[in-house]
Amino acid sequence: MESCCLSSVKLLVAVATEVLVCEKCPLWETRRNAVPGEGSPNSKIVCIGEAPGRSEDAQGKPFVGAAGKYLTQLLAGIGLSREDVFICNIVKCRPPRNRAPSPAEVEACTPYLDRQINAIKPKIIVTLGHHSTAYVFSKTQLPFSSITRVRGKSSDTAILGRRVTIFPTFHPAAALYNGKYRRQLVENFRSLGRMLRKMGIIRSS
Ligand code: URA
Ligand code: SF4
Repeated sequence: MESCCLSSVKLLVAVATEVLVCEKCPLWETRRNAVPGEGSPNSKIVCIGEAPGRSEDAQGKPFVGAAGKYLTQLLAGIGLSREDVFICNIVKCRPPRNRAPSPAEVEACTPYLDRQINAIKPKIIVTLGHHSTAYVFSKTQLPFSSITRVRGKSSDTAILGRRVTIFPTFHPAAALYNGKYRRQLVENFRSLGRMLRKMGIIRSS
């Protein structure tokens, strides 16, 4: 393995080890398992969701419940397996009753996400839903108003001192039970696939 990858593995293991025992915000008190994230440590693509739900909390893995199965299908539709990307969340512990994470929780937890991004050095960040899009946009010079405005459009920008393309989509959980969102999400993943092919990140099929 190249030295770059070895060090990204080490950095990601260090983050995960800290996350598993973290008590930096009150969410630790109600979690069963913290969910650091998983996937390829040297992927060009990082997918960022909101927070673990019930299944993720039970298994300690990201996107393994209904929304996760749907995300896995959407990725497969553009020729990507879960192992081809790195999947994680803005906050690493489940908020009670799946409420949205509070600003204080996001602030406490996102240094872990920033370290993951620094370790992986992705070319593309796919943000899933409002919370992750708002956070990632806040790290750039780009204005953010709403997920509806920016979804499906790529932005070339810089994050943490490195050039990156951000590609926001709706959250798969939002689309799961809403046909209109689902069609839009499918369309967004098609555009993502086209962009990744153009960039040479995935092969043409
Ligand atoms: N929803 C998310 O935002 N993240 C997960 O890991 C699962 C569901
Ligand atoms: Fe720590 Fe993040 Fe879990 Fe809060 S959500 S306890 S900051 S790992």
